[in-house]
Amino acid sequence: MKALRDWWKALEQLLLPATPPCGLCGEYPRLPVGACRACLDSLAIRWERWDVQGYPCFSLFPYQGFGRDIIHRMKFQGGLEIASTLGFFLGLAAREEPQLAQVDLLVPVPLHPARLQQRGFNQTVILCQYMQTAWKRPVCDFVLRTRRTETQSGLSSAKRKHNLRRAFALLPGFDFRKKRCLIVDDVITSGHTFASLAQLIEEYGGQPMGIFAARTERWNRGYQL
Ligand SMILES: [Zn+2]
Repeated sequence: MKALRDWWKALEQLLLPATPPCGLCGEYPRLPVGACRACLDSLAIRWERWDVQGYPCFSLFPYQGFGRDIIHRMKFQGGLEIASTLGFFLGLAAREEPQLAQVDLLVPVPLHPARLQQRGFNQTVILCQYMQTAWKRPVCDFVLRTRRTETQSGLSSAKRKHNLRRAFALLPGFDFRKKRCLIVDDVITSGHTFASLAQLIEEYGGQPMGIFAARTERWNRGYQL
């Protein structure tokens, strides 16, 4: 009988998947939030609330060290697993934030179609899709990136601002009036991408806010545009 039990146990282990690996490092077993303890510690998660040009903003972790590394891997190495894990984190955090209770829509920051083709996916859309697994809010896809802007990293703040002027457009057929729109992006750096889209949504009667997985150091110090 013992031999049979051992054999059955071995078969079970073979057929039943063990705890899936961490969605960020892929090495250690994940906790229910989707990542392992070591990754969660390395991200140094701290929920920050502040505002950019009067629009409320929220973010999970600093864009440095492991946090910066994760964002880069997500964007430039096809990190869909990372995007889905961070999206789930954002959904869990947003669900607990009283200031976000009235949000009507998630607005992923769009990529220009040429950039989308090059990268194969828009990480902000994946973030929104996986936010929805923890926090049910519809995703709005009535926003277009109308100008192909150069990669923002490496540009001065003034150049970024110039680069983003009229970079977005809203498609007809959707009424933004009085809608609380939560703009979703992977990282807030200078804040100009967010401010540019937020202003446009406000012009159309919406009430923009922002949520970002990561933030650069300046936003830890209450920096304003
Ligand atoms: Zn991990």
